[in-house]
Amino acid sequence: MAGYMELVERVINGSDIILMVIDARDIKGTMNRELEGMIESKNKKLLYVINKCDLISEAEQSKIKLKNSIQVSATRHWGNMRLLRKIKALAQGEKAIIGIVGYPNTGKSTLINSLKGKRSAPTSPKSGYTKHIQKLKIDEGLYVLDTPGVFSKSGESDLDHMLIGAKDAQKLLDTEKIVAQFILEMKGKVEKHYGVKESKDPYETLEEIALVKKLLKKGGLPDTMRASRQIIKEWQARKEVW
Ligand code: GDP
Repeated sequence: MAGYMELVERVINGSDIILMVIDARDIKGTMNRELEGMIESKNKKLLYVINKCDLISEAEQSKIKLKNSIQVSATRHWGNMRLLRKIKALAQGEKAIIGIVGYPNTGKSTLINSLKGKRSAPTSPKSGYTKHIQKLKIDEGLYVLDTPGVFSKSGESDLDHMLIGAKDAQKLLDTEKIVAQFILEMKGKVEKHYGVKESKDPYETLEEIALVKKLLKKGGLPDTMRASRQIIKEWQARKEVW
């Protein structure tokens, strides 16, 4: 079995155009700089596919300024034709093989399905990645390689997983600790979202949020465990920017 990065590199080597799928809700967090470098050094064409645009507002969509990018929603089939046109323009009338890379859960499998229409390939209901590379025809002279999801952040943390929605809240190990870290990183935005006062101690903020949500343990103490799980779920399912 080839190593993971080796497999990704093989996909990049085998493609003419690379689509890097990123999450519209967390563009910076789901861009993969390491891979960008690799793609550029191999002189391949790179197009960012900003997916899940149905989860952000039109105002937010129009604020996105990213070169070589296209905004889509793979589940709603928004932007399919635009994407195909863009791919054709990049292919300049030649045959082209398209590689799809991106973090887990950004919607690569859904996008592939959407691109190839009715003949469906399985999309994974949970995070994870496909190990095999398959070549699928999407149009005359255009083929897409189905690729594994790509991790490049060294030592990916549970917070990264939370931010990109790659793990179920139930499966994150220490949700209170992760959310405490999240509260600090968001610099007041979490407090604002839940209408609680800011505090130096993020665990205190978590307690306040539990109280606002009326999540109490027996005896009336704030249930910070349940609150932290809810915060993660609400962040992952958010439609607006916090
Ligand atoms: P992959 O791991 O990158 O292959 O991601 P999947 O294609 O398996 O998608 C991960 C999850 O995101 C699934 O639950 C999809 O239904 C969902 N998803 C994919 N694209 C979109 C989209 O455009 N909008 C929304 N709301 N959800 C999406």
